[in-house]
Amino acid sequence: MIGESYQWIDRHLRPHYQDEQIFKIFERVYQEHFTVVAEKIVVRPSEEMGSGFVQSPDDLDAAYREKNGHRIKGHVISIVETATPENGVNLITDVVVKPVNTDDSTILNERLDIIKDKTPEIEELHFDGGYGSETNDQKMLVHEITPVQTAIRGRSAGVEIVIEVHQENGYQVSCPLQSVVATATRKRLKACFNKSVCKICPHNQDCRLIEQKNCWVYYFRPEDYLKQQRQRMIKNIPVERRMLRNNVEASIKEFTCRMRGRKVRVRGNFKTSLFAYGVAIGVNFGRIRRFIQKNGERELLIVSILMRFFTWISGLWKEFRNLIEYLAKSRILQRKCPFEIKCSF
Ligand code: SF4
Repeated sequence: MIGESYQWIDRHLRPHYQDEQIFKIFERVYQEHFTVVAEKIVVRPSEEMGSGFVQSPDDLDAAYREKNGHRIKGHVISIVETATPENGVNLITDVVVKPVNTDDSTILNERLDIIKDKTPEIEELHFDGGYGSETNDQKMLVHEITPVQTAIRGRSAGVEIVIEVHQENGYQVSCPLQSVVATATRKRLKACFNKSVCKICPHNQDCRLIEQKNCWVYYFRPEDYLKQQRQRMIKNIPVERRMLRNNVEASIKEFTCRMRGRKVRVRGNFKTSLFAYGVAIGVNFGRIRRFIQKNGERELLIVSILMRFFTWISGLWKEFRNLIEYLAKSRILQRKCPFEIKCSF
């Protein structure tokens, strides 16, 4: 029934309203959420729905994603902040808002050049499993950034096979019992492990190597070496730096505490971006103010006091406006003209 209604509206109103923005939204919903079955218009089954289909007519930028068993609609805010323990103050340096179905590694890939541009001295970038990818490894190699991945995405490899650089362009490949130098094939690199050792190896049930006539073979590409480097780096850095990424979780809380149930109160990419930039600026100001107060430098202290003064004045102004609105609504204060005083704070 609902499908037929949509079809009727589409057929009869399209000639008159096809250039109207509202009608274009209707058309998009109609095309994406309905389908033809046995010459009848029916609601498209949920398994055929694309993650980029319209989620809400008042937020056309929103998308859909399932993550860790949760169904999420809307946008994702991704932030980057400095995390150097020696810094007096660490700041949020990059904020971006994307549709929620954008892969984390794609977001990072798009931001890497910008991150390098904004913080040219960056040496390490810590991120969780979702942000790692081969293309990001290549980009970070070019920018001389060491990737540190704090969790691994995907299944484990059974027996651990370690690839290391051997004499400039070569690779040494090791399993728990053997270590061999890889040789190049036409498309990949190949490490051949001694078959007689593999036969008596206690790990051979879990080992995913390919058994061939003369040896057990492990094929890999140079990209696999970079991937292993990224995943192993967390074990190679000092213990005190291994938990650095946890700091960003505290910063994320600064964003979510201003939301309602982890949902922003605005719609659309533009307004969500304004919200995210606003929170990031506020968080950075707060950190700078606390740093200044702690270190007590005179000029900086004056800036801090001024910032507090402006915050106080703008808060006072807001309260005053609310009070006037309340008095006007409850008819205690009669207004002949609408209350309209512009303020440039
Ligand atoms: S089966 Fe062979 S390749 Fe696999 S772990 Fe054992 S010795 Fe190494």
